[in-house]
Amino acid sequence: MTRTDEPVALFWFRRDLRLEDNVGLTHALKSGYSVLPIFIFDKNILEKLEDRHDRRLSFIHGALESLQKRITAAGSSLRVMHGTPEEALRRLLAEYDVRAVYANRDYEPYAVERDRQIGLMLDKSGIPFRTFKDQVIFEKNEVVKSDGTPYTVFTPYSRVWKKQLIQGDLIVSPTEQLMNNLVKTGPFPLPSLEETGFAGTDMLFKPPEIDTGIIADYHKTRNIPSLDGTTRLGIHLRFGTVSIRRLVAAAIPLSEVWLNELIWREFFMSILWHFPHVVDNSFRKKYDNISWRNNEEEFERWCKGMTGYPIVDAGMRELNATGFMHNRVRMITASFLTKHLLTDWRWGEAYFAARLLDYELSSNNGNWQWAAGSGCDAAPYFRVFNPAEQTRKFDPDLSYVKRWVPEHEDPGYPRMIIDHALARERALKTYKEGIR
Ligand SMILES: Cc1cc2nc3c(=O)[nH]c(=O)nc-3n(C[C@H](O)[C@H](O)[C@H](O)COP(=O)(O)OP(=O)(O)OC[C@H]3O[C@@H](n4cnc5c(N)ncnc54)[C@H](O)[C@@H]3O)c2cc1C
Repeated sequence: MTRTDEPVALFWFRRDLRLEDNVGLTHALKSGYSVLPIFIFDKNILEKLEDRHDRRLSFIHGALESLQKRITAAGSSLRVMHGTPEEALRRLLAEYDVRAVYANRDYEPYAVERDRQIGLMLDKSGIPFRTFKDQVIFEKNEVVKSDGTPYTVFTPYSRVWKKQLIQGDLIVSPTEQLMNNLVKTGPFPLPSLEETGFAGTDMLFKPPEIDTGIIADYHKTRNIPSLDGTTRLGIHLRFGTVSIRRLVAAAIPLSEVWLNELIWREFFMSILWHFPHVVDNSFRKKYDNISWRNNEEEFERWCKGMTGYPIVDAGMRELNATGFMHNRVRMITASFLTKHLLTDWRWGEAYFAARLLDYELSSNNGNWQWAAGSGCDAAPYFRVFNPAEQTRKFDPDLSYVKRWVPEHEDPGYPRMIIDHALARERALKTYKEGIR
């Protein structure tokens, strides 16, 4: 290993895999040092993924290829490593005269602790670790009540979020104009998916498309699962292949309803930041006293889309086949698992986490707890979605059901796993006893 003498700053890509409006990268490129861009396939995270054919890894790999192409065109190269962040950074410190490390902030408990440790490690070598707000408009304590405590109800949170928003919050940083400040170097090879322990899938990375037509009609189409009425930008927000500032700027003139969705995302991030106990526990502690039935055979039927409730089964099959499920149906399937089957919301949360391409800890946890009634600003526990009624309202001609459960009227289709009225009564009784 030869040490390169030119002083450099590292920019560490994490969940911000884009060159457009990347706040941390812009700061690095303005630092006065040449910037070496890096990405680390983090063993700590990858080892927890069970499926070798995880399509999210294909997406990340594709996004890295796309970054590499553009970075190479600027005469530089993205250094992609595989290991723990600590191992990877130590190696780079040995190879380069690193003067600073730049990154964008990540608010999940694992990431916060990782960054704390890395900060300490770098500090010992006298290297500053500079982090920036990038994936949200407002972070940490930026939207809180006047007494400094966090909001736990969406509507007042969103009101203050909107009131606080000024044009400056949406300024796009000029990352792409500064690409000349990247380190000049020959190309580093991109490890193959196989080298990181995964296999290729049918998932391709496509740059995000902001469909203004969908956004403008969102208030009319967002609840109909048979339509392409939502933007499918979830995965891009998850991996930062789109800029949140660009999306908010697009939302403002077009759709307040869609803007609210982006604010829900930040609301749940804020809940996770202020109340990290939600990762393993109910937001409202007394909901941890509910006597869940946790019947494994029933759970299996729910996972496979074999409950005998066509709308529930359609949702689960859509998830299993595509890694996506429409939001309305996410609500129906989550309510069904927690209320009809009285299965711990954490089981459903984990199942979604393993399969959703747009999986986001804060949103998944927040919405599961919302459905179970245990969360902040949750549906009251006595609201038990009626699958038949939901179908009449949101899939009246059964287009969605027919697409995913074509055999729903055949004699071979499973009988209903439980009668709706019975399930409702049982849920009300069990919840009432649990949260007494
Ligand atoms: C049980 C359950 C689990 C969920 N798990 C996730 C998850 O892991 N990751 C995730 O991003 N969303 C999750 N959601 C929220 C929502 O279903 C998805 O964000 C949405 O369906 C994604 O589709 P889209 O990209 O077309 O988004 P659009 O409908 O076009 O909305 C735009 C963006 O707004 C955000 N958003 C929309 N609705 C919500 C919401 N209710 N809560 C938080 N953010 C929202 C997302 O970032 C979304 O991509 C969950 C909802 C439920 C009921």
